[in-house]
Amino acid sequence: MRSPLPDYMTEVLEACSDEDDGELAAYIPELAEADPSRLALALATPDGTRYAVGDADVRFTIQSISKPFAYALALVDHGLDAVLEHVGVEPSGEAFNEISLDPSTNRPLNPMINAGAITVHSLLDADRVAAGFAAFAGRDLEVDEQVYASELATADRNHAIAYMLRNHGIIDADPHAVVDGYTRQCSLLVDVGDLAVMAATLANAGTHPVTGEQVVPRWVARQTLAVMTTCGMYDAAGDWFTTVGIPAKSGVSGGLIGALPGKGGFAALSPRLDRHGNSTRGVRIFERLSGDMGMHLMEVPPAARPLTHGHASADHDGDGETESVYELQGSVDFVGMERLLVELEQEDEGAREIVLDLARVHEVRDVGRRMLLEGARRLVLDGHSVTFVDPDDMLETGDAGVIDVGDGPEAQVMRERDSRP
Ligand code: GLU
Repeated sequence: MRSPLPDYMTEVLEACSDEDDGELAAYIPELAEADPSRLALALATPDGTRYAVGDADVRFTIQSISKPFAYALALVDHGLDAVLEHVGVEPSGEAFNEISLDPSTNRPLNPMINAGAITVHSLLDADRVAAGFAAFAGRDLEVDEQVYASELATADRNHAIAYMLRNHGIIDADPHAVVDGYTRQCSLLVDVGDLAVMAATLANAGTHPVTGEQVVPRWVARQTLAVMTTCGMYDAAGDWFTTVGIPAKSGVSGGLIGALPGKGGFAALSPRLDRHGNSTRGVRIFERLSGDMGMHLMEVPPAARPLTHGHASADHDGDGETESVYELQGSVDFVGMERLLVELEQEDEGAREIVLDLARVHEVRDVGRRMLLEGARRLVLDGHSVTFVDPDDMLETGDAGVIDVGDGPEAQVMRERDSRP
């Protein structure tokens, strides 16, 4: 069988191809030469599968889609607090190239508008940009020297922003050198497949889905996705998030990425831009994808299956002391554990032994582990004995034996349940 997914993606492109509103970005002369009919779409999944349709081989300059990745690299190198001293995280509601700073702090409002992105770039050197972007893409990226030269020759506005930043002490470096480096960063050549894996790396908590490299730590991926959510679509961010609901970033060459936490990265290309500077067809494509696939981040998921799959009690020795076995399933998270703790609260005083069987559990979240161990601790203090059956070592105890559940009390850990019910 041939997967229907590429056919579906082609159908999405076809459905959007009659849309011809919008203009090419004329302020960079070289971009005004782009073929407006180009149309491409790619998806990269967390396991590294890549689907790409349309003009997927066409390379174009990354432009503002570089901003979240440069921000992520600056966070890794300097830490959150130091980066926040230079650039805020508030949506600006302004155009991408607005010459503006936060009036109370003089910082750029966020790293997705040019003032913020130029500041972020000043925190990185050229080698770091090249190596960091190569790690995100999974290959070295070249600079389009023609677009770079064309943009730099007309970069008066970005120079004005950089001078303003230095005037306020937000950047130390020479404004010309920073704009030069930032323009080279914007001129890196990518195709939609590259952008989809770059987005998927953020969606995958910083781990590249193909190379397996942890490109940025989990907290950096989260911070970057959060800023993309609130600021990635410039002064259309609210409209975008209510309709599409996917953390995203657009660029003036017509690229658009969406990174859906835990689910993968999408990238589209279509060079005509709407009045906000976002790809007109790109926005249509994402509206369609989000609707068809139910990918709006605020879509409330159906209630999860209960954590307790089965519960049985038996008095094996006829001495009035029962063994009470809870078979758990799915994810041990806050919601499931809250329910289980309510069940355990009602546990019969006569049940001496409580068995918590994790054989059907597929993940134990941090909070779930803490709640489970605290529940076990309280059961032991109430006079029960507690045994975890943990064949796949979900509790990460290493050897089966005992686990200290906090301040003295211990529970047993077994890899297999004994044969009783
Ligand atoms: N290089 C472009 C600029 O600074 C990026 C803008 C964009 O893609 O939105 O003007």
